[in-house]
Amino acid sequence: MNKIDCVVIGAGVIGLAVARALAREGREVVVLEAEPAFGQHTSSRNSEVIHAGMHYPAGSMKALHCLRGQRLLYAYCRERAIAHRQLGKLIVAADESDMPGLVALQEKALVNGVTNLTWMDRRVLAELEPDLQAYGALHSPTTGIIDSHALMVSLLADAEAAGAQLVLQSRVTGGRETEDGMVLFVDGEEVLAKTVVNASGLTAHVLAAKMRGVPHETIPRVRYVRGVYFALNVRHRFRHLIYPLPEPGGLGTHLTLDLAGNARFGPDVEWINQVDYTVDPGRVDVCYQNIRRWWPGLPSGALAATYCGIRPKVINVDKPEGDFLIQGLEGHGIRGLINLFGIESPGLTACLSIADEVLRRCRQYW
Ligand SMILES: Cc1cc2nc3c(=O)[nH]c(=O)nc-3n(C[C@H](O)[C@H](O)[C@H](O)COP(=O)(O)OP(=O)(O)OC[C@H]3O[C@@H](n4cnc5c(N)ncnc54)[C@H](O)[C@@H]3O)c2cc1C
Repeated sequence: MNKIDCVVIGAGVIGLAVARALAREGREVVVLEAEPAFGQHTSSRNSEVIHAGMHYPAGSMKALHCLRGQRLLYAYCRERAIAHRQLGKLIVAADESDMPGLVALQEKALVNGVTNLTWMDRRVLAELEPDLQAYGALHSPTTGIIDSHALMVSLLADAEAAGAQLVLQSRVTGGRETEDGMVLFVDGEEVLAKTVVNASGLTAHVLAAKMRGVPHETIPRVRYVRGVYFALNVRHRFRHLIYPLPEPGGLGTHLTLDLAGNARFGPDVEWINQVDYTVDPGRVDVCYQNIRRWWPGLPSGALAATYCGIRPKVINVDKPEGDFLIQGLEGHGIRGLINLFGIESPGLTACLSIADEVLRRCRQYW
């Protein structure tokens, strides 16, 4: 049987960031990835926004890792010349009825430690974004965009430079606890690992349930929320990311710009029961309605449904908005295993902070 010090399951942005952190600590690391390439799921199906942390409940893992992750990520992008831009974001009140929601958001931001939001009135907004029609807005100067593929390439390069190995087309189908560590079942073979980090994203809870020894009651219920994106196929003048007020399940159908200046809207919110990336083009109608609240000039026929991503949500009665769950020994009682559940937005922003936290937890096992 192959014996490995640390196995990371899944080569999305989280698995790659974790592999980098473990390898730089001097551990032997193998990343097992089911697909023929890294980053084929949620890490390449998102808005590529570097979030500032104002949206998440006070004291949540999302708030903590978003704020810490944002600082780490900007520094890492500068150090490694990863394409990114700190464009800033406007969260808009389309009309007066949205203002209480915006005030509440600013209060939440302050509690989270996001102290740099500023108010903009109609007059300033007209100068800044002439096509935007809004009663007022909060401006977040530290929100930005990033080339998420370049980020993953860089994380992988760092991990490999520190000795980590990525093994593609290697699906982990289950495992069992032993005295020497976890035995993983990988395409009919068995691998013994002293430390296992389950960073398999959307199906992390399904995989955890297939590991003998993991008490079932410690595996959270995960719900899926699909979000479709719509490309804008006419010229535009927007220079900021533009968000409405958040809606249950998501941050609201927003405008993001990519590094080439192309605009896309999304993701919308659709609760689904299984991983399914089918895009329903009919969802564009609601998207027009939502956007025209603050961009009445959006021409008909300008939007086309493109791709979608799926948010894995761990929702509890005490955390209805969902939170990240980084689960170690204290959660499931198994030495050597770390499960990562519910790593939806802002997971991209938070990846380096989550990796630090996983490293800290792993040190307890060594
Ligand atoms: C619609 C949407 C928009 C988002 N927008 C943003 C944003 O703007 N900013 C932000 O900060 N965050 C955003 N996020 C969140 C961010 O994209 C995710 O948190 C992050 O990509 C999760 O990465 P991951 O590595 O956990 O998952 P994934 O990228 O899904 O990686 C998991 C990997 O595990 C592999 N795998 C699965 N099962 C197995 C197995 N059994 N064996 C081996 N390998 C396996 C998969 O093939 C995959 O490669 C968004 C998310 C969504 C859904």
